[in-house]
Amino acid sequence: MKDVYTLDDLRDWRESNLRYAVLGDPVAHSASPAMHNAVLEHLALPERYCRLHISPGQLAEAIGLLPRAGFLGVNLTIPHKTQILPLLDQVDAHSRRLGAINTVAFCDGKITGTNTDGPGIVRAIHEEFGVALGGLRILVLGAGGGAGRAIATQCQIEGCAALLLVNRTEQKILELARNLDATVIPWTDKALADQLANIDLIINASSVGMKSGDPSPLRAEWLGKSHLVYDTIYVGRQTPLQTAATNAGASSANGLSLLLHQGVLALEYWLGRPVPVEVMRLGLEQFINRKS
Ligand code: NAP
Repeated sequence: MKDVYTLDDLRDWRESNLRYAVLGDPVAHSASPAMHNAVLEHLALPERYCRLHISPGQLAEAIGLLPRAGFLGVNLTIPHKTQILPLLDQVDAHSRRLGAINTVAFCDGKITGTNTDGPGIVRAIHEEFGVALGGLRILVLGAGGGAGRAIATQCQIEGCAALLLVNRTEQKILELARNLDATVIPWTDKALADQLANIDLIINASSVGMKSGDPSPLRAEWLGKSHLVYDTIYVGRQTPLQTAATNAGASSANGLSLLLHQGVLALEYWLGRPVPVEVMRLGLEQFINRKS
């Protein structure tokens, strides 16, 4: 199995046991194969999971080719989570409301999609901080992206006490904020510094922090001990935002718990049965340990 396959590989697919994949650009860093393959192996299933590097202009062709190549399901990561919507035959009502799809199944000639990032963040926040989203005052950074949109909507569904949305391109979140009865604040030092005093939980769903050398999207001096800081990014041991949170004495976690729980829910969607969370967690931990 190659580390990363491409659209050219998919056009002439020869890997008979690779039936699941993560599609993205970039995708080489993805831990998804390690965690899904740990469970598939544990369940003695013959299918395996791989990475497919698919750029934005290639998504429609890839989605057409995948079922013909024998794929049963795929996950979508940057930048495909919203672009996939018009390519699907069926989307459940909850995922349509979240406005982004990260899990697709190919079954009986139909292409169906669901969102496991939304339910995944509920489990991740509870696991990391021992709290429920309901009742918290939450700020979502990067709320205009596929993950941010779904996470912000899930926070509102869970009954958060206040919801503040921030996005580099503010235009992208105006309608979302209206639908969610949320407040938009500009991505400026002053607005962030002023608003953070009234926030319990900060969720970074922007991709700031993914590339090496990226700064923290928030400065340590704006953060305090009472903040819970969740960075959906999981590249490296500590993300720049986590470093800022640690310097401020705030509690923080990276996106590994979201990755785990959205993955568990995705595999359950494809297999139609519960999967062992701890086996997937071990597969993920082994991958992270090998990388570091
Ligand atoms: P996406 O749809 O491409 O959205 C990217 C987001 O990042 C947008 O809000 C974009 O703002 C913002 N952004 C990009 N570069 C920026 C910059 N230089 N300054 C400020 N904002 C910037 O991607 P996505 O699928 O939602 O993923 C976003 C992040 O969430 C990624 O880091 C991904 O790893 C993480 N994620 C993690 C998990 C997990 O399992 N842990 C799950 C889902 C997502 P604009 O709208 O202005 O472009």
